[in-house]
Amino acid sequence: MVKLGNYIGGHWVEGDGDGQLLYNAVTGNAIARASSDGLDFERILTYAREKGNPALRKMTFQERGRMLRALALHLMEKKELFYTISYQSGATRIDSWIDIEGGIGNLFSNASLRRRLPDESFCLDGDPIPLSKQNSFMGHHILVPKEGAAIHINAYNFPVWGMLEKIAVNLLAGVPAIVKPATVTSYLTEAVVKEIIASGILPDGALQLICGSAGNLLDFVNSQDVVTFTGSASTGLKLKSHPVILRESVPFNMEADSLNCIVLGQDVAPGQPEWDIFIKEVKKEMTVKAGQKCTAIRRIFVPGNKMEDVWKAISTELDKTAIGNPLNEKVRMGSLAGQGQREEVRSQVQRLLASSQVLYGSLDSVSVIDADAKEGAFLSPLLLINETPLTSYEPHNIEAFGPVSTIMPYSNLEEAVVLSKMGKGSLCSSIVTASPQQAKQYVLGAASHHGRILVLNAECAKESTGHGSPLPLLVHGGPGRAGGGEEMGGLRGVKHYLQRTAIQGSPTMITAISNVYQPHSKGIQGNIHPFKKYFDELQIGDQITTDKRLVKAEDIDAFADLSGDHFYAHLRSTDFAGTMFEQQVAHGYFIMSAAAGLFVDSFEKNPVLLNYGIDELRFTKPVYAGTSIYIRFTCKEKIEQELKERNPDLPMVQGADIPKGIVKWYVEIFDDTDEAVGVGTILTMVQMKQKP
Ligand code: NAP
Repeated sequence: MVKLGNYIGGHWVEGDGDGQLLYNAVTGNAIARASSDGLDFERILTYAREKGNPALRKMTFQERGRMLRALALHLMEKKELFYTISYQSGATRIDSWIDIEGGIGNLFSNASLRRRLPDESFCLDGDPIPLSKQNSFMGHHILVPKEGAAIHINAYNFPVWGMLEKIAVNLLAGVPAIVKPATVTSYLTEAVVKEIIASGILPDGALQLICGSAGNLLDFVNSQDVVTFTGSASTGLKLKSHPVILRESVPFNMEADSLNCIVLGQDVAPGQPEWDIFIKEVKKEMTVKAGQKCTAIRRIFVPGNKMEDVWKAISTELDKTAIGNPLNEKVRMGSLAGQGQREEVRSQVQRLLASSQVLYGSLDSVSVIDADAKEGAFLSPLLLINETPLTSYEPHNIEAFGPVSTIMPYSNLEEAVVLSKMGKGSLCSSIVTASPQQAKQYVLGAASHHGRILVLNAECAKESTGHGSPLPLLVHGGPGRAGGGEEMGGLRGVKHYLQRTAIQGSPTMITAISNVYQPHSKGIQGNIHPFKKYFDELQIGDQITTDKRLVKAEDIDAFADLSGDHFYAHLRSTDFAGTMFEQQVAHGYFIMSAAAGLFVDSFEKNPVLLNYGIDELRFTKPVYAGTSIYIRFTCKEKIEQELKERNPDLPMVQGADIPKGIVKWYVEIFDDTDEAVGVGTILTMVQMKQKP
């Protein structure tokens, strides 16, 4: 019998002893053994800290992002191999798609986040904070990679996604990972890690894998590590209260049981599109992954007078769901991940039945296609009914991690909000309604207790990603019972692996540290106009101060005519009594255009390829006719751009592979009294002299 490998210290090693037997969930046949016995868990951590961490932390966000993209492309090429293995966990092709391609999609999404980060190993967080009257002292926040490892202890239901959604984030942050998948489905995680390691895309020590028990790994963690846990609340509590985690203040992110719910709006009736959307969503959440999703709908809240119509419609849909061997193309729902999981679900359903009855399905029998219902871990979908949800404990507290959901009545939307909160915190909730009022009342009433809320109606249903799909750019996690954690969410997730440090000093010092020009820093005034410099020649702080230009009343009249903006404040004929202004005031956009006329140099071609926008433009003081303005123009930030990949068989798009970067310019506009009348950041694309 094949024994799974542990990838530690740069090598594949087998654990001692026989280890745990792992089974094909569909046939019940043993397929592998997993053991981590005898591993030196302290050394695993040391290797991540001493080998993987320094290699990753010295890479820039751009390099790490490109690494993730390369990894995603590599795994996409290998995906069919993963599908063949995934079937053994009872997953249908669609279930596996969520796990495998959903996981790879996470790598792509995080790779793209590099575009919002600098070409540095660290980044600034938020805005500069002025701290002194004379502008010689300021503050900012800087984010640097933690010096430890990300330890991911994962649940069995998504052996690929569960790993990739997490490592994508810590690798982008510059922190190595130690992944410990749930043992029962670790054979699939191992297959993916084998491909990752074989690709050679990650630096040594960036990823280690433990197939089997986590041993005494947590005895050696420290404050530079981050532990994430996905699994049951009871294990989560045990690990979260581990004395070393508490003593060393180790960040611990927990995603646990969740009694997610869906609400049918009071406005929705049979025949309306939202009715069918609701029924379809419930059926999907009960059957995809055989209900083994942390986000699956466990509680269904329906207006009391529509209960029967709803449960009959759901039952009709469930009847159409073919269950069995996921390799048979007719099958829409596979098995649970193993016999142990089926036993666990059955016993949880028994507990739920203390206050509910079965409306649809059976705990003991299920007809299956191309499989043996007893040998494989098959279970019928089970729709339960509870008529007294306000006074029942079980449906709001007991999670059956399978195709099980309970339908319950509510009398008004306020009550639906109360019921939704009785789950004591969930990962996600949905409401299906065509009424904006009901949607608003529900979202504002229930949001405090749910990590994500989906509002479904006919307008969005077709393109909706669905109740159960956590998305890389949206926060995943939930308060209370759901673990109180938060992961993904785009850059929010990356920040969990970065230390945020407040830095204080002179603006010039903060510019030197951050490589981003800070207001009131000393600039570098030279003889060459910055627009004549190539991207690689420009220095942060390169600066010019322009000549003055007199703003005349005729200019303002002409700009009003040219632009068509005849707002009263720009007209000489206006009686200014009772207005914000004393007299005819120049258009802000005219001042900005005049500023460009002052700072743009040359009638000849230069390395500036184009101007593509302005960020944070503010007009801070009115400019009246007769005022002279001048500009201080400073190179604020540089972001190198990658060359576009070109298909050699296609004709070259002009300019497509000019080596170039984005340069942000800080523009300050002053009047005769040297007071700022406007400020903004201009974005240009600038050619590079050297090929990168
Ligand atoms: P589990 O039994 O709590 O196991 C979760 C993970 O913890 C597994 O990797 C397990 O390893 C490990 N573990 C168990 N005891 C440990 C210990 N003493 N020290 C270190 N690690 C330990 O949960 P599960 O049965 O795999 O997953 C089902 C549960 O996960 C459900 O309750 C579901 O709601 C929840 N879940 C939540 C989310 C979410 O995002 N919120 C996602 C998926 C699942 P072994 O496999 O080796 O025991």
